[in-house]
Amino acid sequence: MFQAPTESHSRVVIVGAGFGGLTAARRLAKAPLDITVVDQHNYHLFQPLLYQVATAGLSPADIASPIRSVLRNVDNVRVILAKVSGIDVARREVVADGRRIPFDELIIATGAEHAHFGTDWAQLLPGLKTIDEATYIRRRILLAFELAESEPDADERRRLLNFVVVGGGPSGVEMAGSIAELANRAFTSDFRAIDPRSARIVLVEAAPRLLTTFDPLLSERARRSLGQLGVEVRLGTGVTECDRSGVSIGSERIESRTIIWAAGVKATPAAEWLGAEHDRAGRVKVEPDLSVPGHPNIFVIGDAALMLGANGKPVPGDAGVAKQQGKYVAKLLVARSKSKTFPPFRYRGLGAIAAIGRKSAIVQIRSLKLSGLPGWLVWSIAQIYYMSGFRNRTIVAMNWLWDYLTLRRGMRLITGVTGSHIAELPRCLQRPVTRLTDDQDS
Ligand SMILES: Cc1cc2nc3c(=O)[nH]c(=O)nc-3n(C[C@H](O)[C@H](O)[C@H](O)COP(=O)(O)OP(=O)(O)OC[C@H]3O[C@@H](n4cnc5c(N)ncnc54)[C@H](O)[C@@H]3O)c2cc1C
Repeated sequence: MFQAPTESHSRVVIVGAGFGGLTAARRLAKAPLDITVVDQHNYHLFQPLLYQVATAGLSPADIASPIRSVLRNVDNVRVILAKVSGIDVARREVVADGRRIPFDELIIATGAEHAHFGTDWAQLLPGLKTIDEATYIRRRILLAFELAESEPDADERRRLLNFVVVGGGPSGVEMAGSIAELANRAFTSDFRAIDPRSARIVLVEAAPRLLTTFDPLLSERARRSLGQLGVEVRLGTGVTECDRSGVSIGSERIESRTIIWAAGVKATPAAEWLGAEHDRAGRVKVEPDLSVPGHPNIFVIGDAALMLGANGKPVPGDAGVAKQQGKYVAKLLVARSKSKTFPPFRYRGLGAIAAIGRKSAIVQIRSLKLSGLPGWLVWSIAQIYYMSGFRNRTIVAMNWLWDYLTLRRGMRLITGVTGSHIAELPRCLQRPVTRLTDDQDS
């Protein structure tokens, strides 16, 4: 039952219902605090599986859960759908869509957004951070095959069947592997004029190896697995030029209508809102208890925060860290509400995983290093375990089983373009990502 905010309880506002914010909200259930969760979307998104939406393996609804529904049993929490644009630190108010939300304690958990490193490539290179971006990329990939099927010009056909993924971190590796499987397995008997297996998938990474946060041995295994799937990996040179018909990698030119950005992120503008010190990626430098220096009642967690681990290096920007930090701040606030002190945050490294196609993944958990099918089994169990909601877990598991047994991809809907636009499809393919339309699919 809904409980109106009380006079006596401290007001905690959580901005962002991602991994960090949602964990904090859940952990504060039953605490003598009035919690308000503010998010620009009405759903919590499981970003690690976005690439599967972008490559037609899963539907958007499989990896997103309505925030209200996730928090429906948490009586002391109310949810506001609004985009935060500033924080009035002096008046202790969050500014969101023209309204002001007062707080005694504030948790900022707004995550990260794309960074295109000072270039204007954002117009050309869609990245993968949101449901809209994932369905947009899916449309681009599926349209590229459809257009190639009826394209009379051989050069343009080639351009349509070339796919470039920029960035060899986990997201880029997963995207490239998954596009290769679409072309080489799922689509093989579906087209008549083209052979989807002739598609070329190029993964570009400026560093000398893929997946630089992993052990070099696993990076090499990932490179080999991608090679077996038909992905061409370019290492040691970044993209130097980019336009609507392709990219240059140093002196090499690759003509392509579909270029996907997986090369960099920066923090959301929390540091700007707070006037707080930050690093080059915009992450707010936080105290050992995750509070903002000089503001013991304001915390920044997850991808928006810069926290140094015991080794003096920033703790990684991943879902596990965001969840640990959300849990920590919740406990700290409960301790404070009882006038108790609480020790500083201690990061526990959980390891890292990345999938390479339908039945291979690399896993690094302390000294344990796995690749291939054993890695994929650990990867899938971890993804299912971390997903929110029984429905999502069941559907995702069933989809994977279906995909595994049949090699099919069921979510091959092209949305956002309809009948009268068909003649304009080539232009749709070139449409800048800033002109996303709402997709009406599930
Ligand atoms: C494609 C992809 C794949 C990934 N794969 C993995 C993986 O395999 N394993 C892993 O551990 N991590 C992975 N990550 C990283 C992981 O998703 C992030 O580290 C994690 O989501 C960070 O959690 P967070 O709570 O800081 O932010 P998020 O989970 O990003 O949540 C931020 C929330 O804040 C909201 N928000 C943002 N700005 C505003 C605003 N102005 N007003 C209101 N609300 C706002 C957003 O809508 C969102 O709900 C991946 C990320 C991506 C993009």
